Amino acid sequence: MEREDCVFCQILSKRKTSKIEYEDEDLAVFWDINPQAPTHLLIVPKKHIDKLSDFSKSDDYLMCKLFKVAIDVAKRLKLDEKGFRLVLNEGRDSGQSIFHVHLHLLSGRRLMWPPG
Ligand code: AMP
Ligand code: ZN
Repeated sequence: MEREDCVFCQILSKRKTSKIEYEDEDLAVFWDINPQAPTHLLIVPKKHIDKLSDFSKSDDYLMCKLFKVAIDVAKRLKLDEKGFRLVLNEGRDSGQSIFHVHLHLLSGRRLMWPPG
């Protein structure tokens, strides 16, 4: 389940420190180390799954929960007042750099569209 060499597994198992905003038995939300907006959080399942397309049928609940928790955190931080963006990079061309699936929650500035 946990991968020794995975940075996010290390954070989730507390072998590596991070600023955790929310945590439950299924996932954690922590602040991105290199923020691209005033608020930049990562919603990360505790189960190691490399990428979005690797979610299996039995992960339906987890996939849904990623979004649900992102919305809950966004509301708690009042990000819904001005808006926020959820981003999930898949594969090299998207810019995915950490191969442990995660949802980005970006807010706090006017975000460009289309993304670069
Ligand atoms: P992606 O490029 O979609 O794979 O996103 C990976 C994100 O993880 C980037 O925004 C990085 O800044 C972030 N990141 C990498 N290492 C850490 C870390 N130790 N703690 C928090 N965020 C990290
Ligand atoms: Zn991992």
